[in-house]
Amino acid sequence: MNALFMQIVHHIKELKAILLQQKENGVSIGFVPTMGALHEGHLSLVRKCKQSNDITVVSIYVNPAQFNNKNDLKSYPRDSERDCKLLSSEKCNIVFIPDDKEMYPVPDTREFNFGLMEQVMEGVHRTGHFNGVAKIVSKLFEAVEPDKAYFGQKDFQQLAIIRKLVKMNHYDIEIVACPIVREKNGLAMSSRNTLLTKEQRNAAPLIFKVIKEASNNLTSHHSVKSVKEYVRNTINSNKLLKLEYYEIVERNTLKPVSEISLKIPLTACIAVYAGNIRLIDNIDIN
Ligand code: AMP
Repeated sequence: MNALFMQIVHHIKELKAILLQQKENGVSIGFVPTMGALHEGHLSLVRKCKQSNDITVVSIYVNPAQFNNKNDLKSYPRDSERDCKLLSSEKCNIVFIPDDKEMYPVPDTREFNFGLMEQVMEGVHRTGHFNGVAKIVSKLFEAVEPDKAYFGQKDFQQLAIIRKLVKMNHYDIEIVACPIVREKNGLAMSSRNTLLTKEQRNAAPLIFKVIKEASNNLTSHHSVKSVKEYVRNTINSNKLLKLEYYEIVERNTLKPVSEISLKIPLTACIAVYAGNIRLIDNIDIN
Protein backbone atom coordinates (compact mmCIF):
# COMPACT_ATOMS: atom_id res chain seq x y z
CA MET A 1 0.00 0.00 0.00
CA ASN A 2 1.29 3.42 -0.93
CA ALA A 3 1.58 5.29 2.36
CA LEU A 4 1.44 8.62 0.53
CA PHE A 5 -2.06 8.18 -0.85
CA MET A 6 -5.27 7.77 1.05
CA GLN A 7 -7.71 5.41 -0.59
CA ILE A 8 -11.42 6.30 -0.52
CA VAL A 9 -13.60 3.20 -0.67
CA HIS A 10 -17.40 2.98 -0.91
CA HIS A 11 -18.05 -0.76 -1.09
CA ILE A 12 -17.47 -3.53 1.44
CA LYS A 13 -16.32 -5.97 -1.23
CA GLU A 14 -13.55 -3.61 -2.35
CA LEU A 15 -12.60 -2.80 1.25
CA LYS A 16 -12.31 -6.49 2.13
CA ALA A 17 -10.20 -7.20 -0.96
CA ILE A 18 -7.73 -4.40 -0.13
CA LEU A 19 -7.49 -5.42 3.51
CA LEU A 20 -7.15 -9.13 2.77
CA GLN A 21 -4.12 -8.44 0.63
CA GLN A 22 -2.61 -6.34 3.43
CA LYS A 23 -3.36 -8.97 6.08
CA GLU A 24 -1.61 -11.60 3.97
CA ASN A 25 1.46 -9.37 4.21
CA GLY A 26 1.13 -9.48 8.00
CA VAL A 27 0.26 -5.83 8.57
CA SER A 28 -1.82 -4.72 11.55
CA ILE A 29 -5.13 -2.93 10.95
CA GLY A 30 -6.48 -0.18 13.21
CA PHE A 31 -10.04 1.08 12.82
CA VAL A 32 -11.80 4.32 13.80
CA PRO A 33 -15.57 4.35 13.15
CA THR A 34 -17.12 7.82 12.89
CA MET A 35 -20.20 9.63 11.63
CA GLY A 36 -18.05 12.33 10.01
CA ALA A 37 -18.13 16.11 10.50
CA LEU A 38 -14.73 15.47 11.99
CA HIS A 39 -13.13 17.54 14.74
CA GLU A 40 -10.05 17.29 16.96
CA GLY A 41 -11.77 14.61 19.09
CA HIS A 42 -12.04 12.28 16.08
CA LEU A 43 -8.54 13.18 14.92
CA SER A 44 -7.10 12.27 18.33
CA LEU A 45 -8.46 8.74 17.76
CA VAL A 46 -6.91 8.64 14.28
CA ARG A 47 -3.52 9.74 15.66
CA LYS A 48 -3.64 7.13 18.42
CA CYS A 49 -4.59 4.49 15.85
CA LYS A 50 -1.69 5.45 13.59
CA GLN A 51 0.77 5.10 16.48
CA SER A 52 0.07 1.38 16.95
CA ASN A 53 -1.08 0.04 13.59
CA ASP A 54 0.43 -0.32 10.12
CA ILE A 55 -2.82 0.65 8.44
CA THR A 56 -5.48 3.03 9.71
CA VAL A 57 -9.03 2.67 8.40
CA VAL A 58 -11.58 5.38 9.21
CA SER A 59 -15.26 4.94 8.38
CA ILE A 60 -17.65 7.81 7.81
CA TYR A 61 -21.30 6.83 7.95
CA VAL A 62 -24.29 8.52 9.55
CA ASN A 63 -26.16 5.44 10.70
CA PRO A 64 -29.95 5.96 10.52
CA ALA A 65 -30.57 2.92 12.76
CA GLN A 66 -29.14 4.66 15.81
CA PHE A 67 -31.22 7.85 15.50
CA ASN A 68 -34.51 7.79 17.37
CA ASN A 69 -35.28 11.35 16.25
CA LYS A 70 -35.84 11.98 12.52
CA ASN A 71 -34.97 15.69 12.76
CA ASP A 72 -31.70 14.89 14.52
CA LEU A 73 -30.79 12.52 11.67
CA LYS A 74 -31.81 15.06 9.03
CA SER A 75 -29.86 17.95 10.58
CA TYR A 76 -26.76 15.89 11.48
CA PRO A 77 -23.78 17.76 9.93
CA ARG A 78 -22.26 16.12 6.86
CA ASP A 79 -19.16 17.22 4.92
CA SER A 80 -17.23 14.23 3.64
CA GLU A 81 -15.06 16.35 1.33
CA ARG A 82 -13.70 18.34 4.26
CA ASP A 83 -13.42 15.13 6.33
CA CYS A 84 -11.32 13.47 3.61
CA LYS A 85 -8.98 16.45 3.47
CA LEU A 86 -8.49 16.30 7.24
CA LEU A 87 -7.91 12.55 7.17
CA SER A 88 -5.49 12.84 4.30
CA SER A 89 -3.42 15.38 6.23
CA GLU A 90 -3.38 12.92 9.17
CA LYS A 91 -2.00 10.31 6.73
CA CYS A 92 -4.96 8.02 7.22
CA ASN A 93 -4.64 5.08 4.80
CA ILE A 94 -8.21 4.12 3.96
CA VAL A 95 -11.50 6.01 4.34
CA PHE A 96 -14.60 3.88 4.03
CA ILE A 97 -17.69 5.90 3.05
CA PRO A 98 -20.62 3.59 2.38
CA ASP A 99 -24.22 4.61 1.67
CA ASP A 100 -27.39 3.20 3.25
CA LYS A 101 -27.82 0.56 0.52
CA GLU A 102 -24.31 -0.70 1.12
CA MET A 103 -24.73 -1.01 4.89
CA TYR A 104 -28.36 -2.17 4.90
CA PRO A 105 -28.92 -4.11 1.64
CA VAL A 106 -31.76 -5.89 3.45
CA PRO A 107 -33.51 -4.75 6.64
CA ASP A 108 -31.47 -5.61 9.70
CA THR A 109 -33.96 -7.01 12.20
CA ARG A 110 -31.44 -8.16 14.80
CA GLU A 111 -32.31 -7.45 18.42
CA PHE A 112 -29.34 -7.14 20.77
CA ASN A 113 -29.73 -7.47 24.49
CA PHE A 114 -27.24 -5.56 26.62
CA GLY A 115 -29.23 -5.98 29.83
CA LEU A 116 -28.86 -3.27 32.47
CA MET A 117 -26.29 -1.44 30.34
CA GLU A 118 -28.99 -0.26 27.95
CA GLN A 119 -31.64 0.34 30.61
CA VAL A 120 -30.04 3.50 31.97
CA MET A 121 -29.19 7.00 30.71
CA GLU A 122 -28.91 7.06 26.86
CA GLY A 123 -30.73 3.73 26.70
CA VAL A 124 -33.75 5.22 28.48
CA HIS A 125 -33.80 8.56 26.67
CA ARG A 126 -32.92 7.30 23.18
CA THR A 127 -35.02 4.17 22.68
CA GLY A 128 -33.39 1.72 20.28
CA HIS A 129 -30.20 3.80 20.04
CA PHE A 130 -27.81 1.10 21.22
CA ASN A 131 -29.51 -1.56 19.13
CA GLY A 132 -28.76 0.66 16.12
CA VAL A 133 -25.18 1.21 17.29
CA ALA A 134 -24.68 -2.55 17.71
CA LYS A 135 -26.06 -3.20 14.21
CA ILE A 136 -23.67 -0.83 12.50
CA VAL A 137 -20.59 -1.52 14.62
CA SER A 138 -20.97 -5.28 14.14
CA LYS A 139 -21.32 -4.80 10.36
CA LEU A 140 -18.27 -2.51 10.28
CA PHE A 141 -16.20 -4.85 12.46
CA GLU A 142 -17.07 -7.73 10.13
CA ALA A 143 -16.16 -5.65 7.06
CA VAL A 144 -12.82 -4.38 8.41
CA GLU A 145 -11.83 -7.17 10.84
CA PRO A 146 -9.36 -4.83 12.56
CA ASP A 147 -6.82 -5.82 15.19
CA LYS A 148 -7.70 -2.74 17.23
CA ALA A 149 -10.65 -0.32 17.18
CA TYR A 150 -10.64 3.14 18.74
CA PHE A 151 -13.55 4.76 20.58
CA GLY A 152 -13.87 8.00 22.54
CA GLN A 153 -14.72 8.13 26.24
CA LYS A 154 -16.99 11.02 25.29
CA ASP A 155 -19.56 8.31 24.49
CA PHE A 156 -18.97 6.54 27.79
CA GLN A 157 -22.03 4.28 27.68
CA GLN A 158 -21.44 3.40 24.01
CA LEU A 159 -17.91 2.28 24.89
CA ALA A 160 -19.24 -0.10 27.57
CA ILE A 161 -21.84 -1.46 25.14
CA ILE A 162 -19.20 -2.03 22.46
CA ARG A 163 -16.93 -3.88 24.86
CA LYS A 164 -19.91 -6.13 25.65
CA LEU A 165 -20.71 -6.57 21.93
CA VAL A 166 -17.12 -7.73 21.35
CA LYS A 167 -17.49 -10.31 24.13
CA MET A 168 -20.96 -11.43 23.00
CA ASN A 169 -19.84 -11.97 19.38
CA HIS A 170 -16.34 -13.26 20.22
CA TYR A 171 -14.70 -10.62 18.03
CA ASP A 172 -10.91 -10.83 18.16
CA ILE A 173 -10.59 -7.04 18.36
CA GLU A 174 -8.91 -4.94 21.04
CA ILE A 175 -11.06 -1.95 22.01
CA VAL A 176 -8.95 1.12 22.79
CA ALA A 177 -10.61 3.89 24.83
CA CYS A 178 -9.45 7.45 24.09
CA PRO A 179 -9.79 10.47 26.42
CA ILE A 180 -12.35 13.24 25.80
CA VAL A 181 -10.98 16.15 23.77
CA ARG A 182 -12.40 19.49 24.92
CA GLU A 183 -12.52 23.08 23.74
CA LYS A 184 -10.38 25.48 25.81
CA ASN A 185 -13.54 26.44 27.72
CA GLY A 186 -14.13 22.79 28.71
CA LEU A 187 -16.96 21.99 26.29
CA ALA A 188 -16.55 18.42 25.01
CA MET A 189 -15.98 18.51 21.26
CA SER A 190 -18.89 17.14 19.26
CA SER A 191 -20.02 17.28 15.64
CA ARG A 192 -23.31 18.66 16.97
CA ASN A 193 -21.52 21.72 18.43
CA THR A 194 -21.49 23.21 14.93
CA LEU A 195 -25.31 23.34 15.09
CA LEU A 196 -25.32 25.54 18.21
CA THR A 197 -26.13 29.23 17.94
CA LYS A 198 -23.52 31.67 19.23
CA GLU A 199 -25.51 32.13 22.45
CA GLN A 200 -25.93 28.38 22.97
CA ARG A 201 -22.22 27.88 22.35
CA ASN A 202 -21.46 30.43 25.05
CA ALA A 203 -23.82 28.68 27.46
CA ALA A 204 -22.71 25.10 26.76
CA PRO A 205 -19.36 25.15 28.69
CA LEU A 206 -21.50 25.28 31.86
CA ILE A 207 -22.16 21.55 31.32
CA PHE A 208 -18.58 20.48 32.01
CA LYS A 209 -18.10 23.18 34.66
CA VAL A 210 -21.05 21.83 36.66
CA ILE A 211 -20.17 18.14 36.44
CA LYS A 212 -16.59 18.95 37.43
CA GLU A 213 -17.75 20.98 40.44
CA ALA A 214 -20.24 18.29 41.38
CA SER A 215 -17.62 15.55 41.30
CA ASN A 216 -15.38 17.63 43.57
CA ASN A 217 -18.28 18.00 45.99
CA LEU A 218 -18.89 14.28 45.96
CA THR A 219 -15.48 13.47 47.28
CA SER A 220 -16.24 15.80 50.18
CA HIS A 221 -19.14 13.53 51.26
CA HIS A 222 -22.19 15.19 49.72
CA SER A 223 -25.12 12.87 49.07
CA VAL A 224 -25.88 11.82 45.49
CA LYS A 225 -29.43 13.18 45.82
CA SER A 226 -28.27 16.65 46.76
CA VAL A 227 -25.60 16.68 44.04
CA LYS A 228 -28.24 15.70 41.48
CA GLU A 229 -30.40 18.57 42.64
CA TYR A 230 -27.48 20.96 42.46
CA VAL A 231 -26.67 19.89 38.89
CA ARG A 232 -30.30 20.12 37.73
CA ASN A 233 -30.82 23.55 39.30
CA THR A 234 -27.55 24.99 38.02
CA ILE A 235 -28.05 23.77 34.44
CA ASN A 236 -31.71 24.79 34.33
CA SER A 237 -30.94 28.21 35.80
CA ASN A 238 -29.42 29.01 32.40
CA LYS A 239 -32.43 29.63 30.18
CA LEU A 240 -30.65 28.26 27.09
CA LEU A 241 -30.01 24.85 28.67
CA LYS A 242 -32.26 22.08 29.92
CA LEU A 243 -31.04 19.03 31.83
CA GLU A 244 -32.24 15.68 30.53
CA TYR A 245 -30.39 13.51 33.05
CA TYR A 246 -27.43 13.51 35.39
CA GLU A 247 -26.52 10.09 36.71
CA ILE A 248 -23.67 8.66 38.74
CA VAL A 249 -22.94 5.06 37.76
CA GLU A 250 -20.45 2.32 38.51
CA ARG A 251 -17.88 2.67 35.75
CA ASN A 252 -17.81 -0.99 34.75
CA THR A 253 -21.43 -2.09 35.14
CA LEU A 254 -23.18 1.30 34.54
CA LYS A 255 -25.32 0.59 37.60
CA PRO A 256 -26.61 3.90 39.04
CA VAL A 257 -25.55 4.52 42.63
CA SER A 258 -27.37 6.40 45.36
CA GLU A 259 -24.39 6.49 47.71
CA ILE A 260 -20.76 7.27 47.01
CA SER A 261 -18.25 4.56 47.73
CA LEU A 262 -14.65 5.50 47.17
CA LYS A 263 -13.81 1.85 46.62
CA ILE A 264 -15.77 1.50 43.38
CA PRO A 265 -14.78 3.52 40.29
CA LEU A 266 -17.66 5.84 39.41
CA THR A 267 -18.50 8.04 36.44
CA ALA A 268 -20.96 10.93 36.35
CA CYS A 269 -22.82 11.26 33.05
CA ILE A 270 -24.95 14.11 31.80
CA ALA A 271 -27.23 14.92 28.86
CA VAL A 272 -28.38 18.48 28.26
CA TYR A 273 -30.52 20.11 25.59
CA ALA A 274 -29.47 23.45 24.12
CA GLY A 275 -32.60 24.17 22.09
CA ASN A 276 -33.02 21.03 19.94
CA ILE A 277 -29.34 20.10 20.18
CA ARG A 278 -28.57 17.30 22.58
CA LEU A 279 -25.14 17.39 24.24
CA ILE A 280 -23.60 14.67 26.39
CA ASP A 281 -20.55 14.62 28.62
CA ASN A 282 -19.11 12.64 31.52
CA ILE A 283 -16.38 12.71 34.13
CA ASP A 284 -14.69 10.01 36.20
CA ILE A 285 -15.20 10.57 39.90
CA ASN A 286 -12.67 8.42 41.69
P1 AMP B 1 -19.17 10.14 16.23
O1 AMP B 1 -18.72 10.64 14.90
O2 AMP B 1 -19.82 11.19 17.08
O3 AMP B 1 -19.99 8.87 16.13
O4 AMP B 1 -17.87 9.75 17.02
C1 AMP B 1 -16.93 8.83 16.49
C2 AMP B 1 -15.95 8.47 17.58
O5 AMP B 1 -15.28 9.65 18.02
C3 AMP B 1 -16.64 7.87 18.82
O6 AMP B 1 -15.84 6.82 19.32
C4 AMP B 1 -16.68 9.04 19.76
O7 AMP B 1 -16.71 8.66 21.13
C5 AMP B 1 -15.38 9.75 19.42
N1 AMP B 1 -15.44 11.15 19.84
C6 AMP B 1 -16.38 12.07 19.52
N2 AMP B 1 -16.14 13.24 20.15
C7 AMP B 1 -15.03 13.06 20.88
C8 AMP B 1 -14.27 13.90 21.76
N3 AMP B 1 -14.60 15.15 22.02
N4 AMP B 1 -13.17 13.38 22.35
C9 AMP B 1 -12.81 12.08 22.10
N5 AMP B 1 -13.47 11.26 21.29
C10 AMP B 1 -14.57 11.73 20.69
